[in-house]
Amino acid sequence: MICCEVLGCVDEFVSISEGGWVGNDPKAARMLTNWLAWMFSEVWNKVKVNLTETLMIVDGHVGKVFCRIGAMKEVSYESDRPFIILAKEMRSNIEILVKSIPQVAPMFVDEGAFQVAMNWCFEAKPNCQECPLQDICLAGRGSSDHLRWSAYQKFGSVPR
Ligand code: SF4
Repeated sequence: MICCEVLGCVDEFVSISEGGWVGNDPKAARMLTNWLAWMFSEVWNKVKVNLTETLMIVDGHVGKVFCRIGAMKEVSYESDRPFIILAKEMRSNIEILVKSIPQVAPMFVDEGAFQVAMNWCFEAKPNCQECPLQDICLAGRGSSDHLRWSAYQKFGSVPR
C-alpha cells in the first residue's frame, strides 16, 4: 500500500501490489521509486534527493547490454528457456557495479542502457557500427562470446 498523501490526495490509500510488481519481481516498484525521487527533487524541488542513491531497474534488455559489453561475469538465464535473461537474478550485481562508480546516478545508467538496447543493441542484428558504446563493448569489438547474449529472443546458438 502507498499513502496517496505523497501524491496529493490525503487519507486515501492505493494498492500498488498488482501494478508495482511484475510477478515476484519488484521492477515496476523500483521504477516508481526513481520516478518519485526525480519528480519531488528535480522537478518540484520539494526534497533533496541524492540521485546516486537511485535504483537500477534492470530488465532483460539492460541485462543484455551489460552482458554484451562484458561487464558481467555471470549471466543468469531461465532453465527451460535458456535465451531469456533472468534480470532479477542479475540486478543486485549490476547495481553493485554501477554504484561503485563515483558520482553516477543509477537511474540514468539504467535508462541509458535501455535506450542503447532499443536503438542499437537489437537481439539478432545489433547496430554496433553506430552504437555509442562500441569502443568499450567487447561484443561490439568482435567478441562472439559476448554477442551471443540475448534478452528475450532465441537466435543463433543457445548461450552456455
Ligand atoms: S556495441 Fe553492439 S553489442 Fe555492444 S552495446 Fe552497442 S549494439 Fe550492443
